[in-house]
Amino acid sequence: MPKITVGTVAVMLFGPPGSGKGTVAQYLTGCFDVPHISTGHILREQIALADGLGREVKELMDSGKLVADELVNRIVVDRLSRPDCAAGAILDGYPRTVEQAKFISEVLKQRALDSMVIYLDVDYDVVVSRLTARRSCPQCGAVYNLRSKPPKVDSRCDLDGTPLITRDDDREDVIRQRLDNYETQTQPLVDYFREQATWYYRVNGNDGSSEQIAERACALIRNSNP
Ligand code: ADP
Repeated sequence: MPKITVGTVAVMLFGPPGSGKGTVAQYLTGCFDVPHISTGHILREQIALADGLGREVKELMDSGKLVADELVNRIVVDRLSRPDCAAGAILDGYPRTVEQAKFISEVLKQRALDSMVIYLDVDYDVVVSRLTARRSCPQCGAVYNLRSKPPKVDSRCDLDGTPLITRDDDREDVIRQRLDNYETQTQPLVDYFREQATWYYRVNGNDGSSEQIAERACALIRNSNP
């Protein structure tokens, strides 16, 4: 499929943990010519460095807490400053706090980028059932689900054969903590985005396959003509 250039817009995928932000973002980069920026992924890369900061970040992530706004803001600005983001980006998992949202709104304004928020609205019981069945490849980051998208060969990545892992933060007690954080720190952003974003859309992420949900998001972007 030929890639469509989005224009100059930062697409922000918003929703509870396990709402499918990463899957939708991957799908969108197949349609639109802008990079995917996942703060969760970049933070996991930081952990892999195993330095002081990496250990600090790991402790927070493993217990389901949010990483400091200052650090995450810096990561996103650095990434957005690279030339491949000149026409925008797909932000996955950022912003997650009102502080982050205010910060990025300013950055986008300075760079003359519009903002589009796609809110993947998924019920918490669906989220818990998805996350407890999630497995991922530590090598390439591919994500599987034991129920809806199992690997072809038992517990190994279809792409590179690496044994799959359960993320440390996908244990049920940690999932509950992440949902609590979401409820108190992130969900209130809905009102902010409704008022501030150039485009704001809500997508029902409960029903349908991840491809169908991603296609709904993709159609919204296409039809917004940014
Ligand atoms: P999920 O959306 O399923 O929680 P992510 O991979 O996006 O998964 O994030 C995993 C963890 O990384 C979060 O629980 C949090 O600790 C940290 N993190 C990711 N994005 C942010 C952010 N924008 N602000 C603060 N912490 C973040």
